[in-house]
Amino acid sequence: MSPDTNFIEIDGQKIPFTPGQTVMDAALAAKIYIPHLCHYPGLTPSGNCRLCVVQIGTKTTAACITPATAGQQIVNDTAALNEARKSITQMLFIEGNHICPSCEKTGNCKLQAMGYYLGMLDDHFPQFYQRREIDASHPDIVLDRSRCILCDLCVRASREIDKKNVFSIAGRGTDAHLIVNSASGKLADSRLEKTDLAAAICPVGAILVREAGYQVPIGQRIYDCLTIQETGLQESIEDNNDG
Ligand code: SF4
Repeated sequence: MSPDTNFIEIDGQKIPFTPGQTVMDAALAAKIYIPHLCHYPGLTPSGNCRLCVVQIGTKTTAACITPATAGQQIVNDTAALNEARKSITQMLFIEGNHICPSCEKTGNCKLQAMGYYLGMLDDHFPQFYQRREIDASHPDIVLDRSRCILCDLCVRASREIDKKNVFSIAGRGTDAHLIVNSASGKLADSRLEKTDLAAAICPVGAILVREAGYQVPIGQRIYDCLTIQETGLQESIEDNNDG
């Protein structure tokens, strides 16, 4: 352990961190799961899904954007916080088209897996039935914005790893939506390729690679075999690039 090593506590467990790490970084390094959808090790954190809400003292904060500080007493795995996370997940479900049995991503979808992890038994809120544009212009990739949860992962993956800056999020609040940074605004005119991390990282069924659907039968997919807690403790950029 380096001389710079300090410690924080998560749910009473003392764990080390190094300067510059966030609470999420330190937790994952110590194999402690904090639920998350928009965080991905190796990408700049954005803090926009709020699933990783934790309590530090009297404040609640997103673990992925909160620097670890020596002596922090962090509360993570409680019924109250998991109930708040379940409500956020339910809102994400009703905000878009997440009809799992009709989605190619079923069994590989992190939103669906999060619903299972948090014991979500129904949508709770009324369905929005938003109609959003589908971009099927690209020969290898389809973008269905009605399933986009605006996690920003494709934006960061394209910018930081693929070095192509294919995607952005435009608008605010209920007007926020994913756009393609090409002259026509269509994927066909972008430099996105099916081997890019941005084409693989979508946690839901909003970005799908063509001719790859149903290659793994339902029942044998990632979250048919593992919980999102197990995969969340394993994933890294290297894993994704290895396919
Ligand atoms: S398309 Fe997928 S990866 Fe991109 S912002 Fe939407 S949900 Fe996230």
